[in-house]
Amino acid sequence: MGAYLSVPSWVRNLDSRYRFVLGECTECGGYTFPPEGACVECNAVGTLEPVEPAGTGEVVAQTVIESGAPPEFAALLDAQGAIGVVLVELDEGARVPGMLTDCDPREVARGDRVESVVRRIYEQEGIVRYGAKFRPEP
Ligand SMILES: [Zn+2]
Repeated sequence: MGAYLSVPSWVRNLDSRYRFVLGECTECGGYTFPPEGACVECNAVGTLEPVEPAGTGEVVAQTVIESGAPPEFAALLDAQGAIGVVLVELDEGARVPGMLTDCDPREVARGDRVESVVRRIYEQEGIVRYGAKFRPEP
C-alpha cells in the first residue's frame, strides 16, 4: 500500500480496482486473493477461475493512519483526519486488504461486518484513482 503506481499500470488493473476479483479453485472450491498463482487452500496451480465476491465480510485486522501517510494519501488524510485500513475476510473465505470509508475509522473493530463500495482513492498525475473500499454494513 502506498507504493508509487504509474498511470499505465493503474489503467491496466482498473477492472480489479473497481471490484474485487477472487480466484475460485476448480480443484477444491476454495477462494484465493489476488486470483493468481497457487490456490491458498490446496496449493494447486493453474486452477483459479476469476469470480466476483459478494463484497461482504468481517474485519480481521484493522489499523488507523493518523500521520506519516504516503504523499498520495496526504490530501485524504488532511480531509478526513485519519485513514482506516482493514484486512477483511470475505464471506467467500479469502482475505483482502482495503481502506475504510463512510465512517470514523477509529470506531471500526475486529469482528465488525463490512461491505465493499467504489470510492475515490487519491489523485495522481491529474487522474483521480478509484477503487473498492469498505464501510460498515448498514
Ligand atoms: Zn484449491
